[in-house]
Amino acid sequence: MYSTALSPSIDCGIIGCGPSGLALAHSLLAEGHTVRVFERRDEFRPVGAAVFLHPFALNSLRKVSPKLESQLLEASTRIHTLSFRTLSSGSEGFSFSLENLQDSERVFGAPFVAVRFWDMLKALKIGLPEEIFRFGYQLERYEQHDEGGVTLHFQGKESVDVKYLIDAGGIRSRTREQLLKKNDERIPRLRATFSVVDRDSLSTALSRESSDSRAAETGELAFLAGDNLSVVAMGLDDGGAFWSQTDLGADPFDPIAATDEDLKKKLADDFADFPSGVKALVSATNFEDAIETSVCELPVTWKWGEDDVTLLGDAAHAQLPALGLGVSTAFGDVEEITEQIRRRGLNREALRKYESKRKISCAVLQLMSRGMFYLNGVSANQN
Ligand SMILES: Cc1cc2nc3c(=O)[nH]c(=O)nc-3n(C[C@H](O)[C@H](O)[C@H](O)COP(=O)(O)OP(=O)(O)OC[C@H]3O[C@@H](n4cnc5c(N)ncnc54)[C@H](O)[C@@H]3O)c2cc1C
Repeated sequence: MYSTALSPSIDCGIIGCGPSGLALAHSLLAEGHTVRVFERRDEFRPVGAAVFLHPFALNSLRKVSPKLESQLLEASTRIHTLSFRTLSSGSEGFSFSLENLQDSERVFGAPFVAVRFWDMLKALKIGLPEEIFRFGYQLERYEQHDEGGVTLHFQGKESVDVKYLIDAGGIRSRTREQLLKKNDERIPRLRATFSVVDRDSLSTALSRESSDSRAAETGELAFLAGDNLSVVAMGLDDGGAFWSQTDLGADPFDPIAATDEDLKKKLADDFADFPSGVKALVSATNFEDAIETSVCELPVTWKWGEDDVTLLGDAAHAQLPALGLGVSTAFGDVEEITEQIRRRGLNREALRKYESKRKISCAVLQLMSRGMFYLNGVSANQN
């Protein structure tokens, strides 16, 4: 039985206003459930990165809501070419490109796309009522009640009672920590720096570098692997570009540089032998907006949930960003949990069925990302 302080009128508390949490909110509202989305950030604000999505991301989203899929497609750039080049101290190495990705819609049912992370979040938020959001609510721990229902305890805020807790809090998921009884099981593997550059800054930098070619043309996803260093670049429809750099030699626990200025200088040195298009990307970057972080893997765990609690997206299985599978896998989770809730209702049976259905495929995808990550490392180091 719920105590008087508890309010079981909220069917589901969702933690995290990332792609998984937002997509799930659409699904639960459409099924008639009352929902609150708790986000630790104080507001819904821009995040400076972009992501590459496999066709199955959009296929999954369509099964949740065709409208949601078209909202996301509208914000995205279709990727038609994938290219890979190795570079070693100035000389060209091995290269290949796949130029028929535009056939993906016909073959796989949806295109490969790139989208600014912030544009993706805005597209996923369209249609969600403002009153379901609680910003500035950082979950500290949950309390499962024997009789059913969960109390959510937030840092410096009142506690909130919900019937079910679905934690889509990504690599910082407190629910995962509590479920596994581990405080910090994150396995940092590398340092990454990433940013999105706008069209005007990029054109100026391209002329400054006297570059006649971009690191990635519009609709191209380019991988460039150099000595101990690799860069991924994506050309976006609006003339801007996304780049991310992974420093395979850096200590994953330590920032690469003390200040933005030092980081910019270090990257300019590191990329000295890279094509001018890549140098232009770095010089066009406003390093105040660039993000430098350690990238972690959270292994798929056999304890993915219990009672009225479960995990969704990165919280359940964050993978190394070597194959661009993170968001696609997260949407796969949302598709499966939606399917189970539609069939069985929002109840423990649906949560357990969802977990068991997702574990194997997520573990396999995670292994593939790990394999590709090490392969990238080997190819970068063997130039
Ligand atoms: C360098 C890099 C490149 C990547 N590239 C790609 C790519 O190309 N393609 C791809 O598909 N994926 C990529 N990913 C992975 C992708 O970003 C994630 O898989 C995806 O964001 C997971 O979504 P999510 O909603 O599960 O978690 P998140 O996006 O992490 O969202 C979690 C949300 O929960 C909030 N939160 C966290 N803890 C709490 C708390 N205690 N209380 C309340 N709120 C909380 C966070 O603030 C955040 O808003 C990349 C990741 C990195 C680091």
